[in-house]
Amino acid sequence: MLLIDLLTGRCPWCRRGRIFRGVLAMNRSCPSCGAVFEKEPGYFVGAMYFSYFLAVPAYALLALISLRVLGNRSELLAFAAALLVFLPLSPLIFRASRVIWLYFDFLLQRRLR
Ligand SMILES: [Zn+2]
Repeated sequence: MLLIDLLTGRCPWCRRGRIFRGVLAMNRSCPSCGAVFEKEPGYFVGAMYFSYFLAVPAYALLALISLRVLGNRSELLAFAAALLVFLPLSPLIFRASRVIWLYFDFLLQRRLR
C-alpha cells in the first residue's frame, strides 16, 4: 500500500528497497530495483517545500504547548523550550520531506505518462 510504503521509506518504484541507509544517509539508488533517487543536482530542492509544511506546524504546536505549560511567564523562554524539543525532530522532518518529494515526483510522472 502506497501510504505504508511512504511511511516506511520504501522506494516508490518497486516498494521494496529502502530510500535511506542511515538516519540521514540516503542511498544514491534503490538497492532493489536500481532506480536513481537524486536524478540531477538540486533535485531535492523541491523537498524543502514539504520540509517547510512539516516543520512550521510542528514548531507552532510545540510553541503553543510550551506557552501553555509555562503559563505565559516568558514568551521567549517558551519559544526557546519549543526549539529545544523541535531540533531533535529535524532529522525526521528531513527524511520525511525527501521521501514525500520522491513519492510526489513518482506520482506526477505516472500521471503524465
Ligand atoms: Zn526500487
